[in-house]
Amino acid sequence: MGKPAPGPSSTIAKASSRSGTKNGVRERAIEPWSALLDTGREDGRLVREAREGPGPAKLVEIPPELHPELLAGLERVGIERLYSHQAEAIEAAWQKTTIVTTGTASGKSLCFNLPTLDTLCRDAFARALYLYPTKALAQDQARALSALGLTKQVRPAIYDGDTPRDARAQIRRAANVVLTNPDMLHVGILPHHGSWERLFSHLKVIVVDEAHVYRGVFGSHVANVLRRLLRIAAAYGSDARVLLASATIANPVELAQRLTGLDDVTLIDRDGSPTPRRQIAMWNPPTTDSVGGAADEALGSRRSPLGEAAELLSRLVRDGARAICFMKSRKGVELLARLLTEELERTDPDLAERVAPYRAGYTPQQRRELEARLVRGELRAVITTDALELGIDIGELDAAVVVTFPGTVAALRQMWGRAGRRGKGLAVYVAGEDALDQFFCRHPDEFLERPVEAAILDHENPQIHQAHLLCAAHEGPLGPEDAEFFGPRWEAHAEALVSAGLLRGRTAAGGQEVYVPRRADDYPAARVSLRSASPDSFAILDLSTGELLGQTEAARAFSTVHQGAIYLHLGRSYEVRELDLDARRALVEPFDGDWYTQPKRETDTTIERLLDRRETLGVTLSFGEVSVTETVLAYQRRRLSDHAQVDLVALDLPETTFSTQALWFELDAEALTKTIPLDSLLGSLHATEHAQIAMLPLLAMCDRWDIGGLSTNLHPQTGRPTIFIYDGHPGGVGLTRQAYERFEELCRDAHRLIAECSCKSGCPSCVQSPKCGNLNEPLSKAGARTLLDALLAAT
Ligand SMILES: [Zn+2]
Ligand SMILES: [Zn+2]
Repeated sequence: MGKPAPGPSSTIAKASSRSGTKNGVRERAIEPWSALLDTGREDGRLVREAREGPGPAKLVEIPPELHPELLAGLERVGIERLYSHQAEAIEAAWQKTTIVTTGTASGKSLCFNLPTLDTLCRDAFARALYLYPTKALAQDQARALSALGLTKQVRPAIYDGDTPRDARAQIRRAANVVLTNPDMLHVGILPHHGSWERLFSHLKVIVVDEAHVYRGVFGSHVANVLRRLLRIAAAYGSDARVLLASATIANPVELAQRLTGLDDVTLIDRDGSPTPRRQIAMWNPPTTDSVGGAADEALGSRRSPLGEAAELLSRLVRDGARAICFMKSRKGVELLARLLTEELERTDPDLAERVAPYRAGYTPQQRRELEARLVRGELRAVITTDALELGIDIGELDAAVVVTFPGTVAALRQMWGRAGRRGKGLAVYVAGEDALDQFFCRHPDEFLERPVEAAILDHENPQIHQAHLLCAAHEGPLGPEDAEFFGPRWEAHAEALVSAGLLRGRTAAGGQEVYVPRRADDYPAARVSLRSASPDSFAILDLSTGELLGQTEAARAFSTVHQGAIYLHLGRSYEVRELDLDARRALVEPFDGDWYTQPKRETDTTIERLLDRRETLGVTLSFGEVSVTETVLAYQRRRLSDHAQVDLVALDLPETTFSTQALWFELDAEALTKTIPLDSLLGSLHATEHAQIAMLPLLAMCDRWDIGGLSTNLHPQTGRPTIFIYDGHPGGVGLTRQAYERFEELCRDAHRLIAECSCKSGCPSCVQSPKCGNLNEPLSKAGARTLLDALLAAT
């Protein structure tokens, strides 16, 4: 979390005197959540309990060599000592690139603020640049920087899309800490580096907070933007230090290296902040009873996690806890808030006023007010979509309730980290019906111990790399020394841009061959969205406000924003009124209905280039480039409540093709048909593919929507039954390479997913996929199990 510098309460040792469990004597304190957990134990909804902490704070002296003004500032806000990781980070930051990955609320900001502020105190010309993925987080950090009262030495300013035009020149001139986001840096700062001469000539520190957010397509873009930044800074003679902070992930050093292109990175991950005593509860809604009273195990349908969460929260609130609840979609947030209010109106009308959904679009002042009410306890529960959006200064609360798996264990831990006010807290996870949710409910131990995922990105994705090379060429001619920033493939990609008529070669004054833009008056950054892999995109416009919601890659437009599609953007639902192929835009309207849509597609893959191959688990496993050709034929409308099909609507859309990275494995048809009946062969391959895609996010932080697949009885190029798993973004961002390298794990996880699900013939918790282009036809759960049995037996 981008928490501001901790105040006295979190930095000075306030070790709670009582320790937790003592030699087998189970402590039985009455907490605001005790009664709730008792109920869950009795009726079996509480599938697993665990405890964390407490752990003491490791405190060290503030390094006396910090600038006296800074030391005075720390004293003013009552910080007398530092957590050990904060002191280590200062030391490391003076040496080289550093990434800090300590927990939520561990005072991470101070890790990069102290070395930065020290630099600013010593050098009146020095400048720092802070990057935040959201505006709210930048606002919090600006406030935290001002809190030390170093008004003479530190002049922070936010420079983003909301900054008034007439304030911008003053910020460029006078601010010595510029807080912005990667999009603004890309489109508004780097292309105009001439007017930022003071910043770039004296740039000493670059802070990249919330670095784990920069993964996948967005991360691959940001990695290029950071390279452009380092290149421009170098051109102005600056050698800025890069300081990163991230939530806990599997590969922090690698992430820092991939984001910045810098090799020598120090990791600070030994958290010196105190761990509260945290009770962890995994909560699985009961299977819904059929009329006869027997639980519907065969269908695997469960009570809605929303209803379950409303019950949990109302009990927590009634028992006096302050809680925060995280949900994936805004619609879910609104629904849950309504359910919870209704429930409280019935039981404790006074409390109904004291729960609130957190809505996006609050002004900073409204957010402050909400935070303050929460801290004071006037507000008992707040429901929000994710921690980042909130970016909130609430410290810790009694309970953090996460409803359905947020996509990564890393995110879940971060949300749980909010629980621990006054040294103790309750962290709850309410499982949904998706494959990963139910998988975790069957493996709570593994879930709790599971290493967090790796953040994957690929800055050399051809489309993304080329787009930024073109932007870079507009910022200054590209020459051989740029290999240092853009990597070994820069020249091949620059040549591709020459062929495309966008760059041309030129002999510079010193006789050096450089690449310059063919059209100097062009402004390529304006065409490159950091959220999309391909510049070839469709705009998504909200008809109700005229606002541009975003863009979607042309290759994906037909399946995501076809006419009639229900489109989810930042947790809100929209219905597509029209997809205008000529104007390349989708016109959408806010949607409040109770259905969602699933496109029916015909897909073909062609192997373009083999990059790697190995024999494993009795199959030939390959990694390479493929082209994916897709025709969206129709879409199905399904009811949200029970997923029942409402209707099927035909579409008339042209075929699209894109190239990307994929893994594929070829199976032996003869061996397969010995154990799997021929008529369920395709269903077996298809179900295997779905299970593997469902489990892939555990290896590489991504959403199953980022991944595509194709299974075929007979692929024309391999001549054998083949399963393809491909990166859904043009060019690929490294996800399937990760899956290729860890294929055995992927098969093991997929096997367990299928083997352990209690349904008879496949359900949303195992082999059915909400995004299947064939609308989950055909699927053979039994066949997939046999197939994976055979693979795993071959080890
Ligand atoms: Zn199942
Ligand atoms: Zn499918």
